[in-house]
Amino acid sequence: MQNTPKNGLIDPYARRIEYVRVSVTDRCDLRCNYCMPKGFDGFHEPDEWLSFDEIERVVGAFTRLGVERIRLTGGEPLVRHKLPDLAARLSALPGLRDLSLSTNAVRLDKYAVALKAAGVGRVNVSLDSLDPERFAQITGGGKLHKVLRGLDAARAAGLAPVKINMVAMGGVNDDEIEAMVAFCAERDFTLRLIETMPMGDTGRNASGQYLNLQTVRQRLSERFELIPDIAPGGGPARYYRVAGSQTRIGFITPISQHFCETCNRVRLAADGTLYMCLGQDHSYALRPLLRGGASDAELESAIRTAIDLKPERHEFREKPEKVIRFMSMTGG
Ligand code: SAM
Ligand code: SF4
Repeated sequence: MQNTPKNGLIDPYARRIEYVRVSVTDRCDLRCNYCMPKGFDGFHEPDEWLSFDEIERVVGAFTRLGVERIRLTGGEPLVRHKLPDLAARLSALPGLRDLSLSTNAVRLDKYAVALKAAGVGRVNVSLDSLDPERFAQITGGGKLHKVLRGLDAARAAGLAPVKINMVAMGGVNDDEIEAMVAFCAERDFTLRLIETMPMGDTGRNASGQYLNLQTVRQRLSERFELIPDIAPGGGPARYYRVAGSQTRIGFITPISQHFCETCNRVRLAADGTLYMCLGQDHSYALRPLLRGGASDAELESAIRTAIDLKPERHEFREKPEKVIRFMSMTGG
């Protein structure tokens, strides 16, 4: 990586930024109750979305600045037309060593092989329930069998590891956590349990379902012997391995035990706004530069300026009313 500066991108709190989550659309074919309001269609217009050329330019600038890992997300990234073409362009960039995808898997059976061929290494799939009716309730009408087909296709295509993201909600799906551990163990998937975050009105309305994962870990450790494990890739999950198996369970606890001191990421929204933190408004609009003829050097300089804006931490607990954007806008 000839252009990578030795120290890479370092924020004001001495954290190295080496991971960018790229949202390719704010639209979605599901309406998870903690994420998007039912019937919501106030999306950005497609001409506000960055084109594939523009996304490739921004990601290229990040890789020259030392970023090695990109995750495609949304909204639902697989509703963006020709997503594998974008994946192929990004995975060809020098310096990129890990391209992954977050998806609800509704359309994954159709795209898994093309994504793998395009250089996507691994997928994270949202799955909050294994009961078709409950799944439909949580997702605003989603069809569980499509997700299960998508998961089979991911495995068959060699996308690995597959990680299941389950938002754990009290009185909604907390009785299914053990069943989800068994489901993942049978298929060699990693399970990640997530605490509900107060993102947008939907996230805040779901706060009545908030479940402190410290209590869930306690409950699971009465049933399974949980051995602390290493978190590969420096992500936010605290991992445990179930003794006597290869099954790993990660706990993502932004509320009960935040992990901001090791935050290594920023998020590019579909409209080209770079968000410095999921729970704060610090941002930098890159689209005007991209459409105003900025040079690569100017783009890199803008990214450095943006990284200087990164706040120390979110305030989900202290100021839950703060973030008005839905999770689907910033890309989870
Ligand atoms: N549509 C894709 C999916 O569902 O995986 C990618 C985007 S989605 C916004 C990314 C992740 O954000 C999902 O795992 C979802 O469960 C999570 N998420 C959305 N709203 C949330 C909230 N209020 N609190 C916690 N997690 C949330
Ligand atoms: Fe769509 Fe993902 Fe949000 Fe669910 S969590 S509504 S699948 S963007």
